Amino acid sequence: MRWVLRGLKKGILTTKYPKKRPSYDEVPEIGIPMPKVADIESARKYCPTNAISDTIDVSKCIFCGKCEEYGFKRSRNVEFAEVRKSLPFSRSIHIFVVDVGSCNACNMELEMLNNPFYDFHRLGFFFTPTPRHADVLLVIGYPTDRMIDALLEAYDAMPEPKIVVAAGTCALSGGIFEEGKGGLERYVEVDVKIPGCPPPPIALLHGLLKARGGLSK
Ligand code: SF4
Ligand code: SF4
Repeated sequence: MRWVLRGLKKGILTTKYPKKRPSYDEVPEIGIPMPKVADIESARKYCPTNAISDTIDVSKCIFCGKCEEYGFKRSRNVEFAEVRKSLPFSRSIHIFVVDVGSCNACNMELEMLNNPFYDFHRLGFFFTPTPRHADVLLVIGYPTDRMIDALLEAYDAMPEPKIVVAAGTCALSGGIFEEGKGGLERYVEVDVKIPGCPPPPIALLHGLLKARGGLSK
């Protein structure tokens, strides 16, 4: 009874995104607050992932904030996802997740897509336990040697058309674990890149919507 009353009092909690994008102040975790370049030379040598060149490479940045001590400022400009190829259909997208070596933070953000606030089922997204039913191969974590065969087997088992989404700095570039060697693209072509360490749920949702071709920006 208490929960019914609480529900009535609070109303609908599910985010309206993508119909209404919440502002950064309303929902602080929606975006990836990028450090903004102010003094490159003094900050570059302290970056643990060599993400700083003329600008900040979002696929390498782990958002540690170290550069802020050296003249960088956080910006509210949000870089959600980069898309090379999207799916040719728009409903009931099934996602097979492969963790190739994460620290578990990316997994926790992914799990949040299932909760009543983000509720990604309302947008037609579902996790599937088998690659045979999957449209999207969503990969998180640093590609460790022991997981590569399993990853490629899962990819081969998926029916066409299929796309690969890499989420998180580890999958995009190797991140903090093996700077310079690269991420998932050493093994499979990546169609959608979602930065963040870890990417927040709205960034994941945004990337998936772009993968489905449902967002113009
Ligand atoms: S936030 Fe950290 S990883 Fe990102 S550019 Fe700054 S120092 Fe490098
Ligand atoms: S991208 Fe960051 S949060 Fe995700 S697995 Fe790598 S270190 Fe962990």
